[in-house]
Amino acid sequence: MTESVTNWAGNITYAGAELRRPRTLEELRALVRGGGRVRVLGSGHSFNRIADPGEGGLLLSLDAMPPRIGVDTAARTVAVGGGVRYAELARAVHAHGLALGNMASLPHISVAGSVATGTHGSGMTNGPLASAVREVELVTAAGDLERIGRADDRFGAVVTSLGALGVVTALTLDLEPAYEVEQHVFTELPLDVLDPQTFEQVMASAYSVSLFTDWRAPGFRQVWLKRRTDRPLPPFPWAEPATGKMHPVPGMPAVNCTEQFGVPGPWHERLPHFRAEFTPSSGAELQSEYLMPRGSAVEALHALDAVREAVAPVLQTCEIRTVAADGQWLSPAHGRDSVAFHFTWIADAGAVLPVVRRVEEALAPFSPRPHWGKVFTTPVAGLRGRYPRLRDFARLAGALDPAEVFRNAFVRELLR
Ligand SMILES: Cc1cc2nc3c(=O)[nH]c(=O)nc-3n(C[C@H](O)[C@H](O)[C@H](O)COP(=O)(O)OP(=O)(O)OC[C@H]3O[C@@H](n4cnc5c(N)ncnc54)[C@H](O)[C@@H]3O)c2cc1C
Repeated sequence: MTESVTNWAGNITYAGAELRRPRTLEELRALVRGGGRVRVLGSGHSFNRIADPGEGGLLLSLDAMPPRIGVDTAARTVAVGGGVRYAELARAVHAHGLALGNMASLPHISVAGSVATGTHGSGMTNGPLASAVREVELVTAAGDLERIGRADDRFGAVVTSLGALGVVTALTLDLEPAYEVEQHVFTELPLDVLDPQTFEQVMASAYSVSLFTDWRAPGFRQVWLKRRTDRPLPPFPWAEPATGKMHPVPGMPAVNCTEQFGVPGPWHERLPHFRAEFTPSSGAELQSEYLMPRGSAVEALHALDAVREAVAPVLQTCEIRTVAADGQWLSPAHGRDSVAFHFTWIADAGAVLPVVRRVEEALAPFSPRPHWGKVFTTPVAGLRGRYPRLRDFARLAGALDPAEVFRNAFVRELLR
């Protein structure tokens, strides 16, 4: 029976696709071999049609598969099943005295779905979440189970794969000893304080740094510093400490946010902005994000400031983060240390899309790579020149999936 399924934000309906929840690996392999088009739905937190198999396709959810989290304390690795979310993973890993190197803004997203789109947190030396992956186990179009590790020359394609190479049934991730983090929030950082050198100093002033603004004025309403307690906290002379607990969206209750005011706590209860036990919002939002070379950050901020009067009315919050370069061929941070400009928009696509176009025009000189899981208007074909290894990815996709089982409209357009 065809079930009506939507993404978390409710702006995408997977109309005409059949949702199936295999319970075993054998069932999953049989579905893949079934002859139709197949896509996997992770936790559904993407805002575009990247997961949509299209009319008549199969949408596979792995949430009925046996949950698998296998920590190897000696090797400091964890093998995690294809449907597991970061919140469960983080709790399990922490119970063994171990930690992930970074997390995204919320822990409710699935690991496989996150690394497939190049999801990232912040930090001058922190790559996207995919950087932690050392091995991928996937069911290919032929129904075979393949394990591809870092030494394999296909590895650069299989982590940030946009779901185009097969069904990821498990990932093995690097871990490190557990650590504590304190969160310090500052307010009102003026834009004109930031020259390229100061921008680097601000963003390097803690393990993970985020700047937030509503673009109603030039500058940042909030600066969030996530400091590892095993690393120094340099002085922060550019803004004043917050006097109350803050939410990145002005007016929203800060109770959903992770602890602030420098109270130390476990890494997984401070690196995300939102607490695992709360749903961060109702989903009444759209999101966009663009990654650009970090050296262009200040120039790009001024380009955005020039269109802020168009941006502000449809914006809930804008977050600026840094992401270290990685080697995944389709990673938006591929080969370049990046600055990421994120936008949480209001949930009104009609009002938001023209503004997204304005933002893309303003940022065009900086060769922006849109987040694969968020809203963008640049035709996918227009992105080809921004990914030097795209041809290699397309060749591998052709070899692993000659019948184009995993190729939905989104991916077909990119790989054409
Ligand atoms: C409130 C909110 C906060 C967010 N915060 C951040 C953030 O801080 N940083 C950031 O970079 N992004 C962020 N995102 C975006 C989000 O991380 C990405 O959209 C991510 O892909 C979501 O993971 P998912 O499991 O929901 O993936 P889905 O949207 O379900 O799927 C994404 C892609 O992964 C594929 N996929 C999923 N599972 C598998 C599998 N097992 N095998 C093969 N392919 C698979 C799907 O087919 C699809 O192509 C946020 C999104 C929301 C809604």
